[in-house]
Amino acid sequence: MAAKQVTLTFDNGPTPHVTDRILEILDRAGIKTTFFVIGQRLDDAAAADLMRAAHTAGHWIGNHTFTHSVALGDRTDRDYALREIEDTQQRIGSLTRPEKLFRPYGNDGLIGRHLLSRAALDHLLAERYTTITWNSVPGDWKDADGWVETAMAQVRGQDWSVMVIHDIEAGCLARLPELIQRVTDLGATFEQTIPRSVILTEAGRTVSMSPDLMAD
Ligand SMILES: [Zn+2]
Repeated sequence: MAAKQVTLTFDNGPTPHVTDRILEILDRAGIKTTFFVIGQRLDDAAAADLMRAAHTAGHWIGNHTFTHSVALGDRTDRDYALREIEDTQQRIGSLTRPEKLFRPYGNDGLIGRHLLSRAALDHLLAERYTTITWNSVPGDWKDADGWVETAMAQVRGQDWSVMVIHDIEAGCLARLPELIQRVTDLGATFEQTIPRSVILTEAGRTVSMSPDLMAD
């Protein structure tokens, strides 16, 4: 059996005193990841510094909406989509990947029609964003005791896990070293790249997009 693959992604930061410690853990483990940042958090200079530190360390920076409040499919007007996407992209600035990584707000990690609106999809295509979802949400922010078990079950259960965990207070930090150790013990490999199965749009085209991921 081929080794399992795991792509770690850290959402909803940067968070001072959390993201910096996660960067140290990843550095020690030699793991490169993606940080999907919330735009309005970057107006805090300390948080913006941590985004730069992550970028300097070789992690990728992705856009995870500006307010992270109402999913794009739950508020379908074009202006809302543009603000949520572009106000964040502007703050990421030159730290963006050339392929412009964007992850919609899932509202508790859910996959469904609330993820995108038609206006949001059209914009992501026109501006050539790489729109990325996930296939592993172990629930670090709501299940401090159980999330590593959940994560390991998800890693064992599929060939390539794209895992959403969080660099927030009460997120994954406390048990991240344990997760890394257990994934390593399983013989799985950490990847920075993202499989096409969770890429909705790329370079102006749809990839694994489905009508079930967009509001009418
Ligand atoms: Zn999020």
